[in-house]
Amino acid sequence: MSTTFGQSTVLGYPRIGADRELKRAVEAYWAGTIDAEALETTAAGLRAEVWQQLRNARLDSIPSNTFSYYDHVLDTAVAVGAIPERFRRLGRSALDTYFAMARGADTEPTLELTKWFDTNYHYLVPEIGPGITFTPNPAKPISEYAEARALGIETRPVLVGPATFLLLSKPSSLDRLDELVETYAQILTALAEAGVTWVQLDEPAYVTDRTLDEIDALQRVYTRLGELKNRPRIFVATYFGELGDALPALLGTPVEAIGLDLVAGPGNLARLAAAAPFGGKTIVAGLVDGHNIWRTDLRAAVTNGTTLTALADHVAVSSSCSLLHVPVDLSVETRLDPALTERLAFARQKVDEVVLLGTALRDGTADLPAPLPPTPAGWRLTAVREKLASLTPADRERAGYGQRAAAQQARLNLPELPTTTIGSFPQTAELRRARAQLRAGTLDAAGYRERMRAEVEHVIHLQERLGLDVLVHGEPERNDMVQYFGEQLDGFAATDSGWVQSYGSRCVRPPIIYGDVARKAPMTVTWSAYAQSLTTKPVKGMLTGPVTILAWSFVRTDQPRSDTADQVALALRDETVDLEAAGITVIQVDEPALRETLPLRRADQKAYLDWAVGAFRLATSGVADDTQVHTHLCYSEFGEVITAIDALDADVTSIEASRSKMEVLDDLAAIGYSRGVGPGVWDIHSPRIPSESEIVDALRRAVTAVPARRLWANPDCGLKTRGYPEVEASLKHLVAAADRVRSRP
Ligand code: GLN
Ligand code: ZN
Repeated sequence: MSTTFGQSTVLGYPRIGADRELKRAVEAYWAGTIDAEALETTAAGLRAEVWQQLRNARLDSIPSNTFSYYDHVLDTAVAVGAIPERFRRLGRSALDTYFAMARGADTEPTLELTKWFDTNYHYLVPEIGPGITFTPNPAKPISEYAEARALGIETRPVLVGPATFLLLSKPSSLDRLDELVETYAQILTALAEAGVTWVQLDEPAYVTDRTLDEIDALQRVYTRLGELKNRPRIFVATYFGELGDALPALLGTPVEAIGLDLVAGPGNLARLAAAAPFGGKTIVAGLVDGHNIWRTDLRAAVTNGTTLTALADHVAVSSSCSLLHVPVDLSVETRLDPALTERLAFARQKVDEVVLLGTALRDGTADLPAPLPPTPAGWRLTAVREKLASLTPADRERAGYGQRAAAQQARLNLPELPTTTIGSFPQTAELRRARAQLRAGTLDAAGYRERMRAEVEHVIHLQERLGLDVLVHGEPERNDMVQYFGEQLDGFAATDSGWVQSYGSRCVRPPIIYGDVARKAPMTVTWSAYAQSLTTKPVKGMLTGPVTILAWSFVRTDQPRSDTADQVALALRDETVDLEAAGITVIQVDEPALRETLPLRRADQKAYLDWAVGAFRLATSGVADDTQVHTHLCYSEFGEVITAIDALDADVTSIEASRSKMEVLDDLAAIGYSRGVGPGVWDIHSPRIPSESEIVDALRRAVTAVPARRLWANPDCGLKTRGYPEVEASLKHLVAAADRVRSRP
């Protein structure tokens, strides 16, 4: 079998199937409509399809074990025996134990789900408690390797590397690294015995800030694994940024290949140059962006690759990270503007780019396709550009909070501890059906609008009945909080099948921001105004903020993200002004993704937070003092960005807190946050109905950190995934609890 790496590879590939076949199969298995064997048959079919596709594309080194029923970090946990006792105790089959860790079982809570670096993929956090004894279990990588080999395809199994595995675990600690490395050593030996010639170990944790001890540990790991007598050749892959001091550490180990992301970490090149020469190692150059959907500038990539060939004995070309983060195949998108299509590359197209680049590095650039024509003039919008150029700091400033708070109180006359919700109400089967009928053409636009208006009316009446203070229209008309705006803004495109795995069987279809952004017409005003016409209580307008819109889209790379964020902010600003003119007195601008796109290295975080906060303020500073601006944040630990949350200058911030036990309030108090705050007092991620006294307790705890006149009572996120019975019961408890705390704090 070949011992050289070859010219081209990818670090991983989408596993959901071109038509989300895996999602359907896994969900059918969960629902009990297919059995384990049928699930496995579908899975094997999907794996074979990927391998054959990669081979037919003439990719030299083909990865395996990149398939997963749920998550590759969970797969690695299983491979090293890190299955917590509470799941082992269930005595289920290996497959059902695996799904129990991901989805819970009986009363056992799942492993925690958290974001995979700065992507929209979420992994399950391994729990490395004292009860875990690491034991090698290489059955999955070995059987997938054998499966590919039976098809005549030699593959390179991929595993999360031991250091990254522990750093991503709970607790995040390298204390048990030496022990774990011995388990990896046994796995590598087993792979070698199965015929594996190359293995890929992913160590992306080292593109984030790491201590010297942690970097030493990395060196120790790969020195130890490198010394093994019977092992495959080792390719250590890193991605999502610059390796920094971990690069010379890795270069000092006996591993045969090191992968570097030259897209998200262009500085890796200079660092490599400074470290040269480095013996017979292969450098796997991540030149094709695996994290975004734009075509590669092939000539620029070759130039970088050529710089590398002067430094290393052998250079191979790869995707910058796994292609897991992009949709499968562009060729099925037939409704996109051809001028956009020719600028895009999804996973399949990126494989072709990698192969082309690998060949060009060896044989020269003669066969590279012609460069793209300039972008269509229509994608540049002069009015937006002029507006952006003329902005001054005053456009991101409102009057002082004291003045605003007084004006808002005079106008809104809210009680102490006002009650509200985060925006969405249950997305019922009827709502989804209406949307499907609209798409299928069996319901016309007017009919659809009627159904949505009926839902708004229902939601308003329900909230009045429950006695909430600030109402919402319920967002029935929104398929998704980003897509809804993307569909109405210039500069955005939507795909038909551009699905990307978010977690488990859940996939999202991010819009593409390809050109200048502008609002064609008001986007939410008729809905909010209609809702407001039904009640004398204030109805909150509901917008998605610029940072979140960018975070959940594929964003153009031909201008700084901050400029694109400001363009989106200007469109939202126009919307807030129109909402205000339509009689809306409270406007919420959601930024759940604020923390999510925080750069991985501390040195880059301030610049990001500055423009992110600036864009939010640009979006929200166009309204009068007596219009109350809310924001909502969730899905994260916010400790790291707490000063940025303060800097948003929203009048009221609602924040996920029910799971983190109100710690966020102490954090806010510590930095002197002095405006309104609504810590979530009902965890909407679970179907459990919180009791009145439980909410009372949470509010009383909150009052110790924040005075009651600045405190709001609300759930910790939107209610779209819940059902009406739970929502009614829970909100009833919430209103009663607020009443009780008001009268007896
Ligand atoms: N307003 C949105 C909703 O209620 C907020 C969703 C979110 O925070 N992810 O659905
Ligand atoms: Zn939320």
